Amino acid sequence: GLVGDTSQIDIKTIQANPIVYNVQRVAQPYKLANRMFHPEDTIIDIKGVKIGRKKIVMMAGPCSIENEGQICRIADEVVKAGADMIRGGAYKPRTSPYAFQGLGTEGILAMETAGKNNNVPIVTELMSAEHLDEFVEHVDMIQIGARNMQNFDLLKAVGKTQVPVLLKRGLSATIEEWIMAAEYIMSEGNMNVVFCERGIRTFENFTRNTLDLSVIPIIKERTHLPIVIDPSHAAGDWKLIESLSLASIAAGADGLIIEAHDDPENACSDGQQSLKPERHA
Ligand code: PEP
Ligand code: MN
Repeated sequence: GLVGDTSQIDIKTIQANPIVYNVQRVAQPYKLANRMFHPEDTIIDIKGVKIGRKKIVMMAGPCSIENEGQICRIADEVVKAGADMIRGGAYKPRTSPYAFQGLGTEGILAMETAGKNNNVPIVTELMSAEHLDEFVEHVDMIQIGARNMQNFDLLKAVGKTQVPVLLKRGLSATIEEWIMAAEYIMSEGNMNVVFCERGIRTFENFTRNTLDLSVIPIIKERTHLPIVIDPSHAAGDWKLIESLSLASIAAGADGLIIEAHDDPENACSDGQQSLKPERHA
């Protein structure tokens, strides 16, 4: 039996020894994210918006920033309806290379304007470390998307900043893999990590993904970090957002991130799961 901090020990190295029949971890492989070494809840402060207190933090906005008018209009609407932060993508991870890829820098600057107009912080996805400087300058919270949850170079790069990170769960990532992704960021010095469950791949294809609500109490028990839920990408259907949001709050989520659009029928991406302004409240 090994006691103490075993996070540096590689199970596979021990298993490679022919006299070893089995190796069983009794302690978690993560340390900085571990509740055991940090019993009190961590509160992440994003320009004055605090995630991890009793109050639910609402983030809302379009899947993609399409032009400055669009993001500013939607930002005004969602803030009027109670949003604490604005979401929107400028660098989009699309399944098809022929689908809208986002406005890039132009989108980031438009979103910065939308945030300033409403005096609320903005969250947007970083896909490549190449754009990190731009994000450090203009963005209040960096989203690591589901597809990049195990892009370790990207995790290390955001770990070297102090910008709060919204770490989405990978499409097929286990809870331990997800916490280890947070550990990557934290081990570089950035402790400002918020988990985001956005649905996982299962056999069920009625919904876009399957919302795994069990992660809320599990993440809270195992780690000291906050967790927000993205019912939009979990469900892929705006009609399910209200129920899933209520269920998430009942299960103890610290916040919600919801896609909203004023013209979902003509949205550049994810119109089918976007709420219209009159449904934001
Ligand atoms: C998004 O937030 O628009 C997005 C692409 O999310 P995910 O990485 O969860 O698919
Ligand atoms: Mn989307």
